[in-house]
Amino acid sequence: MKARLILSTVFSFLLVGAFAQNTQALVEETVTHSGVQAKIEFLASDELRGRDTPSPEQNIAAKYLATRMKEWGVKMAPSMDDYRQQVNFKNVTPPSDGTFVVKDSSYVLGEDILLLDGTSGNFEAKVVFLDYGSEEDFADAKVDGKIVVVRLGAKGEPNVRKAFGAGREKKKRAAEKGALALIELYTSTQISWKIIKNYIGGPSISLDMGEEEEEGIPHLWLDDSYNTGSKFFAEKSRKAQLNIGGETIDRFSAYNVIGMVEGTNPELKDEIVVYSAHYDHVGVGQPDADGDTIYNGTRDNGIGSITVLEAAHNIAKYPLERTSMFIFFTGEEKGLLGSEWFVEHPVVPLESIVMCFNSDNAGYNDTTITTIIGLERTTATEAFVTAGETYGLGTIPDQMPDQNLFDRSDQVSFARKGIPAVMYTMGVTAFDDQVLEFYHQAGDNPDSVDYDYLFKFTKAYVHACRLVGNMAERPYWTEGDKYFEAGEELYKTQ
Ligand SMILES: [Zn+2]
Repeated sequence: MKARLILSTVFSFLLVGAFAQNTQALVEETVTHSGVQAKIEFLASDELRGRDTPSPEQNIAAKYLATRMKEWGVKMAPSMDDYRQQVNFKNVTPPSDGTFVVKDSSYVLGEDILLLDGTSGNFEAKVVFLDYGSEEDFADAKVDGKIVVVRLGAKGEPNVRKAFGAGREKKKRAAEKGALALIELYTSTQISWKIIKNYIGGPSISLDMGEEEEEGIPHLWLDDSYNTGSKFFAEKSRKAQLNIGGETIDRFSAYNVIGMVEGTNPELKDEIVVYSAHYDHVGVGQPDADGDTIYNGTRDNGIGSITVLEAAHNIAKYPLERTSMFIFFTGEEKGLLGSEWFVEHPVVPLESIVMCFNSDNAGYNDTTITTIIGLERTTATEAFVTAGETYGLGTIPDQMPDQNLFDRSDQVSFARKGIPAVMYTMGVTAFDDQVLEFYHQAGDNPDSVDYDYLFKFTKAYVHACRLVGNMAERPYWTEGDKYFEAGEELYKTQ
């Protein structure tokens, strides 16, 4: 047994050596200049109207991705009978009508009170005031069947962003002890009520997780700009009426597109590398100066989608040692929703996925390089650098840590589960005018990009895919990375 293992290790080492020499030739066998350009011109065409989620045109794009993969012999995932994974969404228009009446004060929803989350309903109950609503404040309080009123945030902490997190904890405490609603007195001067009012209460799209969802008790903010509320509510436990209604929920679905190519090495084929890109964009919107209303999303993310599609074509023809999975996500622009759906409804066990090599773009301002967000964070760095060099491209890590790009695309859904992940992107050194001219603009048309660069860029991606899928050691987080521990947890049984 042992001897065989050593022999097969030596054998696969030799194979890797042979592949290394041939990788460029294999890549260039399927990836062509006109092939890259034609695919981008289709996916980012006006006819696909910006591939919004949901839209008939996005479904056409899904069909295109699926049928190309079928043509090349890319298989469906073994647990599926379609290349498409249905993703369920809901568009929630929050309650439009609501009042909170206590003594002779009446507060109106959208004006004096804002609903952060929770169900609609009509409640008549006594109000109990619990200072900041800390764990201590709740400890001995009797809140069963009552409306709990608390101060915003925590003592000595004026940050509104932190107050959001603290509020969720308070709501949990209140609900656990049987309260009917939680109201926080908004006294912040950091962001005025007038401003905050415009940011809370609009329609929002989220995943529809079916029975798993828990809306919970209503959680509101009440305008207390004059800071008189705590005195009023603390003085006496009064009876109040809270009425909230008029919520509408529209449910719809769209598709992630998934294909697989089985690995050739019996020792490695149980390890799956995910090559992914989101193929949705933001659809049709406000006309720009030229009257263009179609937000084509050539850079974001027609190009990323095509890099993955080219990888699927190449790997179907010349499979790698590890198993390859190609995923085209929907709903990224709505909040990374397609990838979140996938990791919550994985079509293979999550612990069998050893890396997510995601391809996504905002734009570019340097055609001599590729940028890899998370370059230094996994042990696959060398593969990425070698792939770029082969086509005369340098490889640089994230130059804009303040933009928090790693957490703004689909790879983070995998990273949070512990799966090593990086984002491949076009050469970008800053979010400068050259990038912003096209980023989420109607002018991001397929005729506005440099196809000589994109040809090299796509070959470098496919080359990197090949190197990662054939790496002798499986890629992993570098020690001390933010997601290293999550990885240890995910893969602990192996
Ligand atoms: Zn994107």
